[in-house]
Amino acid sequence: MIQFHDFGIDVQTYAERGKDNDFPLLKKCPHCRAKRPLHRHGYYERNALTPHGDYRIWIVRYRCRECLKTVSVLPSFLLPYFQYTLSAIWQVVKEQLGLTEGTNRAPFLPTKDGIIFYVRRFCRNLSSLHSFFARRWRIIGPIVKKEKERASWWIRTLEKHGLYSVIRDMWEDGFRHPFANQMGS
Ligand SMILES: [Zn+2]
Repeated sequence: MIQFHDFGIDVQTYAERGKDNDFPLLKKCPHCRAKRPLHRHGYYERNALTPHGDYRIWIVRYRCRECLKTVSVLPSFLLPYFQYTLSAIWQVVKEQLGLTEGTNRAPFLPTKDGIIFYVRRFCRNLSSLHSFFARRWRIIGPIVKKEKERASWWIRTLEKHGLYSVIRDMWEDGFRHPFANQMGS
């Protein structure tokens, strides 16, 4: 299982701190709900790619003493199983939709195919975004046929609510995230 945590630092700082990051204390097991602090159970390494450089970072893993299941704590600037950071993905998707410009000269951008993949995923998840927002905030998306318009509306709405915290809420509610293979609960 993966949990998000906002470390309040950028990817570069997180990478530099390595295993000395300020890892949170998990007081309750998300698997069995036991109220007994989980103990740290090692680390694994993963990539965090940005348009301006690549990092190898340590992800901490915890284990519950009661049920013996593990939890990994992912910094909220990343998405599970995605190599690029959330802000990199967000930026290129916005550019592809014509909502912003500026990173297209950055040295380490995702490939064209990669960008199209992110946009497709996001567009495929629009109706799940709709369900999540309707359930949580009674916010209903616009009824327009053009996918691009709807996608743009949802991008603005996610930003208005705080992209990182919304994604964390979605994840905790079992909706996964807007670039997941199948978002929805
Ligand atoms: Zn447990």
